[in-house]
Amino acid sequence: MERKLVIDPWGETAIEDYSKLFEQFGVEPIDPLIDEFPIKHRLIRRKIIFGHRDLQKILKAIKEGEEYAVLSGIKPTGDFHLGTKLTAEEIIFFQKLSNKAMAFYCIADVEAWNDNGIPFDKAEEIAISNIADVLALGLDPKRVYVYRQSRERRVLQMATVFARGVSMNLLEAIYGPRHFGLYLSAIIQVADILLPQHPDFGGPKPTVIPVGADQDPHIRFARDIAQKYRSIYGFELPSATYHRLMRSLTGEKKMSKRNPMGMFTLTEELESVKFKIMNAFTGGRPTAKEQREKGGVPEICCVYEVLMFHFVEDDSKLLKIYEECVTGKRLCGECKREAAEIILKWLEEHRRRREKFIDLATKLVREGYAT
Ligand code: SF4
Repeated sequence: MERKLVIDPWGETAIEDYSKLFEQFGVEPIDPLIDEFPIKHRLIRRKIIFGHRDLQKILKAIKEGEEYAVLSGIKPTGDFHLGTKLTAEEIIFFQKLSNKAMAFYCIADVEAWNDNGIPFDKAEEIAISNIADVLALGLDPKRVYVYRQSRERRVLQMATVFARGVSMNLLEAIYGPRHFGLYLSAIIQVADILLPQHPDFGGPKPTVIPVGADQDPHIRFARDIAQKYRSIYGFELPSATYHRLMRSLTGEKKMSKRNPMGMFTLTEELESVKFKIMNAFTGGRPTAKEQREKGGVPEICCVYEVLMFHFVEDDSKLLKIYEECVTGKRLCGECKREAAEIILKWLEEHRRRREKFIDLATKLVREGYAT
């Protein structure tokens, strides 16, 4: 009997077979839409964003110069890492695709409390650091609304309204048995997703939510609620894009903070980052002789994956690494040193940029808008 895919947005789900998301949950492949993007970001070109729901609505809004929103956020539990960088780049990408796009960035401090026990004042401090990272990555501060869940009255009011239409059975069916705080966070997250359609922000409009594949339960839940309350509030069902989940540097199927050797943050000591890259799991052969003869396997190499997801923008450079690897011209030691150099250079530049954004990030976290 075929095994059913169970996705846990708060857990360690590693999705090995993305096609199951297409078959079982109705996610659609991104391929037929790639040509319609006016800018082909590396995440699209390389199909790191592999699937979507209802993205045609956003592409149509871009084409016709109509307003749309992109919403994403962060659970403020620590420094920015490669996973949060990916989602931040997606919100920036959708914000850049049209000057009619408005970005919403949610600081999920209620979820940080319920899932990780982070107090709200600590969450604020972390959020300021996180927002400085997003600004350094290129978010346009003039077209973004940043908010904390715990302070955003409209989100809390909408969550209260939606809660009446949600039974415990439904929550258990979507998320499995959880403590009530996580169910509450899930309902608040639905309100986050529908916030751009609140009358204060101009009412119903296409909205895209870029997420990792493991976050699909939240998207399905939000679409169900939007459908349920559509006749009252006129909601557009939210669209979504799905990105592949990165493996950990040590080779496990999902990068996680629970394995510090398998990930690094954007503000980590450079020596520590270098150490992790030099000790990462690769697709190398047991001996240099064998690697020269048979070539390496970049498809399973975590160093190659990190470069491909994040640090080598130029496709021809990436292709060169790939070809040199599979033909045995490139050995892992030298390759990892080169990768570490590329990554450390990027991190140094990023840190210089982010320092300049701390004041603006503080203003955005405390006041919501840059002006
Ligand atoms: Fe990975 Fe580079 Fe080794 Fe190839 S040569 S397996 S890309 S580290």
